[in-house]
Amino acid sequence: MSSSNNQELSIVVPVYNEEDNLEELHTRIVDACQKLGRTFEIIYVDDGSSDNSYTTLKAIQKSHDAVILIRLRKNFGQTAALSAGFDHAQGDIIITLDADLQNDPQDFALLVSKLEEGYDLVSGWRIKRKDKFFTRKLPSALANWLISVITGVKLHDYGCTLKAFRLEVVKNIDLYGEMHRFIPAIASRMGVNIAEVKVNHHPRRHGKSKYSVFRFVKVILDLLTVKFLLSYSTRPLQIFGVFGLISGALGGAIGLYLSYQRLVLQISLANRPLLLLAILLLVIGFQFITLGLLAEIMVRSYHESLEKRIYYVREIIDSEAETIPEY
Ligand code: UDP
Ligand code: MG
Repeated sequence: MSSSNNQELSIVVPVYNEEDNLEELHTRIVDACQKLGRTFEIIYVDDGSSDNSYTTLKAIQKSHDAVILIRLRKNFGQTAALSAGFDHAQGDIIITLDADLQNDPQDFALLVSKLEEGYDLVSGWRIKRKDKFFTRKLPSALANWLISVITGVKLHDYGCTLKAFRLEVVKNIDLYGEMHRFIPAIASRMGVNIAEVKVNHHPRRHGKSKYSVFRFVKVILDLLTVKFLLSYSTRPLQIFGVFGLISGALGGAIGLYLSYQRLVLQISLANRPLLLLAILLLVIGFQFITLGLLAEIMVRSYHESLEKRIYYVREIIDSEAETIPEY
């Protein structure tokens, strides 16, 4: 792809209290990029570290022109840090990795060559993951399976930060909460080609992991949001409406049945719990439909006020046969 960008590669690294890893990490990243023979920039995002990470990164930045250092005002989380990096990235290809030396920069070559086979997003798969089994690998295996089934984007390892993207992919996704692991699923709604390559993984040697098992719960909640956004964000009434109609129809049917009993057969309704159920179902049905209609209005104002498109173009070919990349 032709481009007016400065670099071929942008390496984006979120950093939170990783002081003892940074120098070795930087050396390894530079080494891997030089081996690839591409122009590159390295974007370190200091996510409000409270140790010496910032000072170390500042020194690294001073001694290396290719380094951009972004310092966030406080700890916003890994997703926000990645997002800040994406906003500033200029390369045709963006590669993300962890700062803790668990990912291996030597895998860049693999990711880039896979991407250039015609993919838009290449995700790392930590085939021999070096983390604890019960607290990390097991929940993660469950999460990967669930995310794959629910979003329909089948990957073995959603949690691997080592990924490569084409620039237009990262410029088109909005990240919130802790959604960075869902980037492939979120990007899938743009219609991207996704591949997976097996990558190395090393145990963490310095510093501590920033997460615990409780992350699993958040992942499940985020999955709900992602699924909804992926499937119904431009037509919310179609999901709320279906529930509303089913509930309303059931309530209506029970109501008719009870009315028939009361009016024709003269059966008393005073001690009939079924009456409560009918009323409940009718009210819920009515609420679901109004909720869906409200969501429709919100979706419209969201898309229109932010000029969000409801489609994504891969390329436009005009009479001069020039390919215009779309952001
Ligand atoms: N990280 C971050 N902000 C946070 C938590 C983590 O930028 O609030 C960075 C962290 O420095 C590391 C990466 O995200 O580079 C992954 O974190 P960690 O290694 O703790 O996750 P794990 O490998 O244990 O899943
Ligand atoms: Mg790690």
